[in-house]
Amino acid sequence: MECISVFDMLKIGVGPSSSHTLGPWRAAMRFVDELPEEDLEKISRIDVNLYGSLSLTGAGHATDIAVVMGLRGCDPTVYPVENIPGDMEEIRNAKKLTLAGGHEIDFVWEENICFNRNFLSFHPNGMSFSAFIDGEVITETYYSIGGGFVVQEERKNARKNQSIFKTFPFPIQKGDELLAICKREQKRIHDIVLENERSVRNDAEIDDGIETIWNVMLQSMYTGCHTEGILPGGLNVQRRAFQMHQNLHVDQPYNDAEEWIQCIRSTKVSFREILKWVSCFALAVNEVNASLGRIVTAPTNGSAGVIPAVLMHYLTIENRQAGFPEIKEFLLVAGEIGSIFKKGATISAAMGGCQAEIGVSSAMAAGALCSLLGGSPEQILMASEIAMEHHLGLTCDPIGGLVQIPCIERNAMGAIKAINAAELALDGDASKAKVSLDNVIQTMWETAKDMNSKYKETSEGGLAVHVGMSDC
Ligand code: SF4
Repeated sequence: MECISVFDMLKIGVGPSSSHTLGPWRAAMRFVDELPEEDLEKISRIDVNLYGSLSLTGAGHATDIAVVMGLRGCDPTVYPVENIPGDMEEIRNAKKLTLAGGHEIDFVWEENICFNRNFLSFHPNGMSFSAFIDGEVITETYYSIGGGFVVQEERKNARKNQSIFKTFPFPIQKGDELLAICKREQKRIHDIVLENERSVRNDAEIDDGIETIWNVMLQSMYTGCHTEGILPGGLNVQRRAFQMHQNLHVDQPYNDAEEWIQCIRSTKVSFREILKWVSCFALAVNEVNASLGRIVTAPTNGSAGVIPAVLMHYLTIENRQAGFPEIKEFLLVAGEIGSIFKKGATISAAMGGCQAEIGVSSAMAAGALCSLLGGSPEQILMASEIAMEHHLGLTCDPIGGLVQIPCIERNAMGAIKAINAAELALDGDASKAKVSLDNVIQTMWETAKDMNSKYKETSEGGLAVHVGMSDC
């Protein structure tokens, strides 16, 4: 059984894709980091091979840029994203790349990065790195398995995580186990999750981590709502959060994201406007993601808008007095639910289509909102189950391989569905539910396995073939 922390499920990253951008970025960093130190200065060349889905939609997902950033040793959580386009242009023009540690090598983008259409058998998102050192070649192969997680075939990571898992006081693999623990300990879900987190970090670290995650979420909503124009990539997609936000009329002046929250809180909202606010928050995050901005992978980049939108809706419309304790409870519950999906099925669109991204994020948000609204542990899992039940079979077919259409709008739909699922669960009798969270996770996994690969982040089916780049 794997140990998955809330901080594994909610990671700060750079858009547009957790599996195609953040994962390859981290894999490249790890490759250079794990090379023998004495060999770094002797590297004459590095080749990168991208396979399967990483190749088919890699260009649209900036996979090539991500691996170059990783080879340079840039940290995706803090590197100034506005510098990336200029950096890349410089590397392309100079045909030189400075590796982490400072050693410069020749690097011809089109020669040293190869997009291979074939799939490696272990996972659809495979990539290998080869370093040429004094006539020897060191090659490592990695797989980006969704949500920014990277493994090698021998699953070194899983082994590491298993050992940490043993330190968790409450090991949880399935929803039913979580409910049994809550019942036995007479605790709510976020208390149990917090106990597990406390076994690997102290309270100050947990609070700092939660606060940092929330600040990135908030900033991505703020940036998206205040940035107009066209998204990069060639589809000419207009940013919509800006105009939507303008139409919602926040009358009072504000100077930053914190003041913005207070202004929204004092703005009167009708039912229609609630829907628009939630959609606006979700669109904003995913427009930032689509423009290679900084977001929180939750549980993936393509679905990064759902959780912030639902939490922001709670903070600005549902409970205007809410603060850090509610943010913490929400993110702890959301993270745990996401980890149960990852253990029982997948959070990778290349494995399970969009049900694995938007479906899981909606389920995470639904359960977390239900918790803040006073739901019992049974109702919380019921809310997550309802949200996923109505995303089953959702395909991944991004036009042009870009995380824009249908992705950005899908976050708005996932967020609204999450809110509705929480309300249905709060009014429901969880003891009479016919479908458990574990049932729906199993169903999602079986559906994922049956799904044609055209609909698993390859852009070979669905909207991606029925709407051409030339139509946009
Ligand atoms: S269609 Fe869904 S799963 Fe596919 S890239 Fe877009 S958001 Fe991600």
